[in-house]
Amino acid sequence: MLQDKDRIFTNIYGFGDAGLAGARARGDWSGTREILAKGRAEIVEVMKKSGLRGRGGAGFSTGMKWSFMPKEIGARPHFLVINADEGEPGTCKDREILRHDPHKLIEGALIASFAMGAHVCYCYVRGEFLREAEALQRATDEARAAGLIGPNACGSGWDFEFHVHLGAGAYICGEETALIESLEGKKGQPRLKPPFPANVGLYGCPTTVNNVESIAVAPAILRRGPEWFAALGRPNNVGTKLFNISGHVNNPCTVEEEMGITLKDLIETHAGGVRGGWDNLLAVIPGGASVPLIPKSICDTVRMDFDSLREVKSGLGTAAVMVMDKSTDVIRAISRLSRFYKHESCGQCTPCREGTGWLSRMMERMARGDAAPDEINVLEQVTRQVEGTTICALADAAAWPVQGLLRHFRPELERRIAEARARKSGRAA
Ligand code: SF4
Repeated sequence: MLQDKDRIFTNIYGFGDAGLAGARARGDWSGTREILAKGRAEIVEVMKKSGLRGRGGAGFSTGMKWSFMPKEIGARPHFLVINADEGEPGTCKDREILRHDPHKLIEGALIASFAMGAHVCYCYVRGEFLREAEALQRATDEARAAGLIGPNACGSGWDFEFHVHLGAGAYICGEETALIESLEGKKGQPRLKPPFPANVGLYGCPTTVNNVESIAVAPAILRRGPEWFAALGRPNNVGTKLFNISGHVNNPCTVEEEMGITLKDLIETHAGGVRGGWDNLLAVIPGGASVPLIPKSICDTVRMDFDSLREVKSGLGTAAVMVMDKSTDVIRAISRLSRFYKHESCGQCTPCREGTGWLSRMMERMARGDAAPDEINVLEQVTRQVEGTTICALADAAAWPVQGLLRHFRPELERRIAEARARKSGRAA
């Protein structure tokens, strides 16, 4: 369990002042110039040592990602882009940072940009997050007026500009290259990789795209030391993490906890437990809509970290925990997610464009029981033909929830089909 002394986001519920005075009182912007004085290489080294893995879903080492940027600044400027698109269903952690702790993000952006040789950072905020963008803009204006960003930021000699950019609400713009396209004013469609953004990113220049939470925790790591951060959590899954708990719990919430906390502790301690008690639990989607669900038998013991959830064929993703009690029609729930991914496919890749449509239509029929029993195998085959064959991971995100359903609730699909057939034959008789 995370102790209060190790909490990074101390204003996540907005009880305190989100402005500069409040942020300073919580320790933000303290010693920033000294952190920058360590130099680019040392900052990247500290981030690597801390073991921080990206908080946007993929879980790649943040320090390593920063180190991929060219060491020398050539003719092309470097950019940091912060992904505040947060479109993954169930996920609502970054928005809390934007509206209640925005100075942590801006300070982190200055440090990260300096470490990667970028003088400009764009924060791409999901279009629906109007109030969050306003809060971030207010904080940006305050920081600029105080000389914390802008020319000679914090008196460091480094010029740094921070821009807030509102998207238009397409899920696919949360994918880093689609985000870059959108930022450039084009249709938000993912690019083929390579080239990777660290080489050819925004406006064809070296670019790193990081999640809001990954950037916002950087100042705390640099102030308190990589050993402090690495001592929290479990090996290879360290630090603190913002979890969102929603669905059939008594107290849906966003909470900062230590990585590796058990799912049961997370739900019972912070979300008031499952509606009707733990034994009323059916399944949990542990990391946002795109990761496979896990049934109660796994939820009883699983830990909330990248490796533990991968071992049970799911994922930490964005750490958005969606709880389903026994009143849930689990086939219909996954069918609704399939419809979402069909709607959000950008349509560039045939397996995704056609496959998400297939999945959605088949899942709608499965939810009604309007299918032949051997179509369950066809459904499985479609998910296998879609995953890993496309430009970006949206097709995987569409396939995995269905695979999770088939892995753990196949008898439920068979029962639904058998019942529908029995009803039909009863009517015919
Ligand atoms: Fe677009 Fe889907 Fe291809 Fe991604 S996988 S680029 S969303 S068509």
